[in-house]
Amino acid sequence: MSQRHDVLINGCGPVGLTAALLLARLGHSVAITERHHEIYPLPRAIAFDHEVARILNLLGLTDAIAPLVAEPGIYQWRNQHNELLFELDWVGAASLSGFAASYLFSQPQLEAVLNRAAQDHRLITIHRGVDVTGFTQNDDGVVVTGRSADGAAVSLHGRWLIGADGANSVIRQAIGGTLVDLGFTADWLVVDVLPRPGASLPLDDDLMLQVCDPARPTTVVSGGPGRRRWEFMALAGETLDSLNSADRAWDLLAPWGVGPDNAVLERHAVYTFRGAIADIWRQGRVFLAGDAAHLTPPFAGQGLCAGFRDALALAWRLDLALRGNASPALLDSYQSERKDHAQAWIFNAIELGKVICVLDPAAAAQRDAGMKAAREAGLAPPSSGILPRLGPGLHLADDHGGTLAAGGAVTWRGAQGHFDDVVGSGFVLIARGADPQLSPQSAALLADLGGIAVGLGTATGADERDGAYTRWLDDLGADTALIRPDFYVFGARSGPGAADALVSELASFLAQ
Ligand SMILES: Cc1cc2nc3c(=O)[nH]c(=O)nc-3n(C[C@H](O)[C@H](O)[C@H](O)COP(=O)(O)OP(=O)(O)OC[C@H]3O[C@@H](n4cnc5c(N)ncnc54)[C@H](O)[C@@H]3O)c2cc1C
Repeated sequence: MSQRHDVLINGCGPVGLTAALLLARLGHSVAITERHHEIYPLPRAIAFDHEVARILNLLGLTDAIAPLVAEPGIYQWRNQHNELLFELDWVGAASLSGFAASYLFSQPQLEAVLNRAAQDHRLITIHRGVDVTGFTQNDDGVVVTGRSADGAAVSLHGRWLIGADGANSVIRQAIGGTLVDLGFTADWLVVDVLPRPGASLPLDDDLMLQVCDPARPTTVVSGGPGRRRWEFMALAGETLDSLNSADRAWDLLAPWGVGPDNAVLERHAVYTFRGAIADIWRQGRVFLAGDAAHLTPPFAGQGLCAGFRDALALAWRLDLALRGNASPALLDSYQSERKDHAQAWIFNAIELGKVICVLDPAAAAQRDAGMKAAREAGLAPPSSGILPRLGPGLHLADDHGGTLAAGGAVTWRGAQGHFDDVVGSGFVLIARGADPQLSPQSAALLADLGGIAVGLGTATGADERDGAYTRWLDDLGADTALIRPDFYVFGARSGPGAADALVSELASFLAQ
């Protein structure tokens, strides 16, 4: 194990695997260390959003995951009297990214796809059965140390290290970071159920329910095609241990018409849902990503999504660093941008949790009355979704910088498909009505970053098939936008010279 890799990653969970695949796609060698020999089998994420769908598409995995995902149907919140508190219709819901708004899936199945892709990649080496204990770093690189299952000492050399090693991250501890509690905890039993062959489960697969019953707050959702998930909140006096058994899961499933006759208990586990964020995300050549950096209660289905965004945010930065641009601004902006963004989702999930996890009947009645009144008044429901902005960093500090950019279907040189597939990705300078006019200097700067410049609706440019980019540029009130490799906006401008100005401002940011 003396070979030196471009990037070392501790943790072969979904975030470590995604970071590895994104870096390998850009031509960098990656070694992953993982203490477990197998993929983590217990129930965890069941929903990912359009940004994650776009990242998986970037990795060429859209077809591989297609049989494993379902689009959500109707999401209802009901109280203990079965009264509707609000309803969200997700059927056919589109998104800014050009993919469905949300996808339902089973995390171990997604991890299996990511794991297979990583195993098959010539630039990725996975060292399973290695328990990492620490690292050292100097100006030149990082050495990760640990022990293999037979007790042998292991050391791996790399230029950069990503700690994607989950909630109890040893890398976070080693950089002196701590998780800052954001003020929410709740204990829940999580149960995944499959119908017995020939049997069907009582609830329609398309229906997702949040049962706001103070006697037992309960969530019922699809866990991807053919699978259903129940989540039961622990009541006062109930311990996680007392909930964590198959018998207890069957007891709680029985009122739902689910039992051993018609169902197989695939997995169950108890969790303390909490909101927390690391105070330090980077030290020198070492970064944190995924649950190592942030913990999100699952009520918004966003913890893993945040980890995917971390992976992409790191991949393009480390790509630039490995190609000779490791400017302090580039590296520091990872934490300043991602921390604010992840925290916005954590607070959103906490707000949902505070509404869902009410055990006091009087408080529940008050909540119900408020929600019913809001519904009658046509007000937006509490989980209608947010699109947070990145924190300060490598983007212009105006109305557009750090917001999520659009993605959509185009025709380009005779090929039709999502922009990322038929035109490309990376730094993308996009202008409507005319091909971006760049000076030779700006064209060379953009080319040096591997960027592309594309006109919309021009003879040599891309033709929109769904109008996504025009709608988005209209919303921005701009004609030209520079999009970063993580699909967030560097800046947007109008008028002559807009393209040159954006490229030269990007170059100034990268030189800091
Ligand atoms: C019940 C539940 C429901 C959820 N629902 C959703 C949802 O619907 N949508 C969503 O986006 N998110 C959801 N999440 C969150 C999501 O599951 C996590 O955010 C995600 O699994 C984090 O991935 P990760 O790769 O960062 O960490 P992990 O999956 O925890 O992987 C970390 C890996 O690092 C390894 N490791 C740790 N320490 C070491 C060491 N010292 N040496 C070697 N290896 C080490 C571990 O063995 C592990 O394999 C949910 C979570 C739970 C619990």
